[in-house]
Amino acid sequence: MRAMGLAAQQAGAGPRVAARRAAPRLAQRPRPRAAPVRPAPAPAAPLPPMAELAAQLEVLRRENELLKRELEALKETGDGAQAQGARRGGGGAEAAAAAAEAAAAAAAAAAAPAADALAAAAGALAAPLKLAAGAFAAATGTAAPAAAAAPARRDGPRVPAAAEVAAAGPGALTRALEAGIAWPEPGTAFWEAPPRTAPLPVDIGRGSGGAAPPRDARRLRVVHFTAELAPIAKVGGLGDVVTGLARVCLARGHDVTVLLPYYECLPQDSLEGLRHVMDLAVPKGRFWDGAMQNGTLETSVFSATVAGVPVVLLRPSAASGSGLFKGGRIYGGGYNETEAYLYFCRAGLEYLAASGATPDVLHLHEWQTCAAAMLYWELYHPSPLPSARVVLTIHNMDNTGEVRQDEFAASGADGAAFATIDKALDERTIGHNPERLNMMKGGIVYANAVTTVSPSYAAEILNGGAAGWLRGTLTRPEVRAKTRGILNGIDAEEWNPATDARLPANYTSEFPEGKALCKAFLQRGLGLSESPDKPLVAVVTRLVPQKGIHLIRAALYRTLERGGQFVLLGSGHCDGEFRRLAEHDFRGHPDVSLNIFYSEALSRAIYGAADVVLVPSMFEPCGLTQMIGMRYGAVPVVRRTGGLGDTVTDVAAATEPGEGNGYVFDGTDEGSLFSALDRALSDFSSDPATWAQLSRANMAAELSWGAAAAEYVGLYNAAVGVA
Ligand code: ADP
Repeated sequence: MRAMGLAAQQAGAGPRVAARRAAPRLAQRPRPRAAPVRPAPAPAAPLPPMAELAAQLEVLRRENELLKRELEALKETGDGAQAQGARRGGGGAEAAAAAAEAAAAAAAAAAAPAADALAAAAGALAAPLKLAAGAFAAATGTAAPAAAAAPARRDGPRVPAAAEVAAAGPGALTRALEAGIAWPEPGTAFWEAPPRTAPLPVDIGRGSGGAAPPRDARRLRVVHFTAELAPIAKVGGLGDVVTGLARVCLARGHDVTVLLPYYECLPQDSLEGLRHVMDLAVPKGRFWDGAMQNGTLETSVFSATVAGVPVVLLRPSAASGSGLFKGGRIYGGGYNETEAYLYFCRAGLEYLAASGATPDVLHLHEWQTCAAAMLYWELYHPSPLPSARVVLTIHNMDNTGEVRQDEFAASGADGAAFATIDKALDERTIGHNPERLNMMKGGIVYANAVTTVSPSYAAEILNGGAAGWLRGTLTRPEVRAKTRGILNGIDAEEWNPATDARLPANYTSEFPEGKALCKAFLQRGLGLSESPDKPLVAVVTRLVPQKGIHLIRAALYRTLERGGQFVLLGSGHCDGEFRRLAEHDFRGHPDVSLNIFYSEALSRAIYGAADVVLVPSMFEPCGLTQMIGMRYGAVPVVRRTGGLGDTVTDVAAATEPGEGNGYVFDGTDEGSLFSALDRALSDFSSDPATWAQLSRANMAAELSWGAAAAEYVGLYNAAVGVA
């Protein structure tokens, strides 16, 4: 079979069909057995008014409690107005006064709600609140802001707007934000607990980004096949990208479903509306005595919603006794991953066929799902899935999925049918016994369109050395013609310092005061010296060779030499050295914290605190950490490779005002790293005003999925033949 060009593929004819005829060894699809077993649970009823009132009262009650406690503490000190020493302990006069200011406004505003019941109840609570506020105002000489100007807070009670509080004078907003922070005990797993004892007493707004995307005229049915999905099954950026892209396409009016293995380790409480949809017998073979044995694996299909995205979860049924997708982690469980993902691809296609779905686009991600492209065109098109076109996104060429031909039988199809140079034969194994298949190659050949996650990485795989063993495939004219780079975005709602509940104080580019509190919070929690003047350099990463391990280590020592602080959060198969450093050399160090594990909650606290986010990767298809860091007001220091070069412009190389957003270096040696890191550390200390401007500009930068989503939708439309 010859690989066909994109135009011919869009027409839906050609060598795929010919290949199907020429592949007699492919197993036939048994008729799927669809058996809905349980009706969907009724959707949650909307909160009755009384429940809403009770919730709002609860918030008021909590705020009142906090104020009472603070008043007690204040009485004990004898002179509340001078009690500066306890400022970061949550009981100080300034914080309490600020809380009182904000709460007074909230209480006064809550005294006149629409619902009579709430008015009565809130009025009862408002009296002590006002009393407390008055006491604090008297003690500190601070006037409570006018209640009439207080805007509504989303959860009911009214709080003053950040601008009003800030207008009260220098430091007023910081003091207000500080009220209610649950300052951590050093050395505890503080990131696992809520960072506040009370809601933010100030309306900080929603910050920039995340505007509603435009609705598209044509509604496309898009089905993603993926091994990761944030936040429930996230190991790295793949999970973020699938969730972010799915959410923005849903917002543009498309019909999006994500197919995900039902890993045993998925957090059940994050699977909203989980229900069993059907059972299926999925074709699954094995090689025995030199011959393919065909069989089936009983499969259970579930549906749920995750972060607003409809998800279909597939796993072998409990009765099958299969160990696939069992264990405590996403990758590296006790089962054979090749077998598991081949089975997942087949199960996904079987589910689509059994459910009568008519997707326009099958969007596949990474080698784990590439077999779905091969099986779709050979076994499912034009019947039972007549209309779909296939888009493959390569997130990283580091792993391309090498599979023995006999192993491919786990997909229910004979691998020999794909073992030709023009299909999926791994060219570096030619002449070996046995020759192998390469899943990424198969995906590239069989997809209608191929994307990778940044324009620079696309150039690197098409023209540079990043293609590795797939160089031959990526030099084919028809492959080049259908391959392009689309720069990832980040989910501006999920990653938003204005709303992130994991931050002790929220902030925006307009009101950045909370960032300093986030830094102090992290420093205290990690046992670092609480100095606002030390530049805090953060690295959040998988610890694998790709990420420039030697440069991360060099940056640690350099940051210390230059008077900064270094915080690492990372794990991976190269984390041994950092574990040793964490346990011995830097244990209890006042300026270094090495955290060798995975924690999204801690990552958020780190982004919120960071002055610099360092990404010194050897190669980086796109990279999200530099963008997340920017969104949280950090300044990136990156090596110019792949998407890092596409997203960060050195402040010294900027040709237009506002273009520079970080510090960039080129080489892979320590000297090159220092050429960028040293400048960043010096600028932080020598020119705080310019640094603050840079930080705010980064918070406000457009990094969302908007532009990328428009490109993906354009690509989907082109793939299905719509101009
Ligand atoms: P990659 O996909 O190569 O791992 P990206 O920069 O594209 O790199 O995405 C990394 C994502 O994983 C980011 O969301 C980052 O915050 C997150 N991440 C990486 N390591 C950790 C960790 N140890 N704990 C929490 N989040 C992590």
